Amino acid sequence: MRKSYVVIGLGRFGGSICRTLMESDHEVLAIDSCEERVNEYMNIATHAVVANAQDEATLRSLGLRNFDHVIIAIGEDIQASILVTLMAKEMGVPRITAKAQNEYHARVLDKVGADLVVHPERDMGIRIGHKLTSNNMLDFIELSDDYSLVEVIVTNKKFYNKTIEEVNFRRHFHLTIVAIRRGKSELIISPPANQLILENDILLVVGTNKDVDYFDGKMN
Ligand code: ATP
Repeated sequence: MRKSYVVIGLGRFGGSICRTLMESDHEVLAIDSCEERVNEYMNIATHAVVANAQDEATLRSLGLRNFDHVIIAIGEDIQASILVTLMAKEMGVPRITAKAQNEYHARVLDKVGADLVVHPERDMGIRIGHKLTSNNMLDFIELSDDYSLVEVIVTNKKFYNKTIEEVNFRRHFHLTIVAIRRGKSELIISPPANQLILENDILLVVGTNKDVDYFDGKMN
């Protein structure tokens, strides 16, 4: 369904959100106080305006509350990001996502009404950190503080040509295989118990961080 979004702050983060929403065929009002940045998005966003989002009258005149979702992607100016989040909440915006610079900032954004607080730098650091410390983990997505979805490449011959059932995944590793990526184009979603595991298969598994690390360790 086509939805309407406002992206406030067109840095790298807000800018890539804006592009992605437009590619998915949504309506986007892009706002930044820097004219140069706004000019870059003139032909990308549905509308792009130069405005200081800290100015409440401006936000009201742009009709902020009529949009489905407002994304506050102001970076360094923490005070501005908090104030704009608070004003968007007071105006009755149905859904607010705000970017936090650090944990304290995140706590305040949560208190003043952000529905979702994101930490792109921290999350990317965690993802890359996991990749760097493991040869077999290709990707890592934190689902909660305890659970993750990871991609692990099978490089231990103990697993080659065995079925999921024979490896006894659930019992031995307490993990669920949600998909297997094979070669360049094959993707086996929700593989059955009799699915064979082959050398260099990439397993997408869900489990606790501890179990995921344990399984990854078995690949060395
Ligand atoms: P990124 O990492 O996403 O590139 P950043 O963390 O470096 O961003 P900034 O460059 O500080 O973040 O802010 C992102 C954008 O938000 C900038 O283009 C800036 O002009 C804009 N911005 C900052 N304050 C305001 C404001 N009060 N009103 C509108 N735009 C603002």
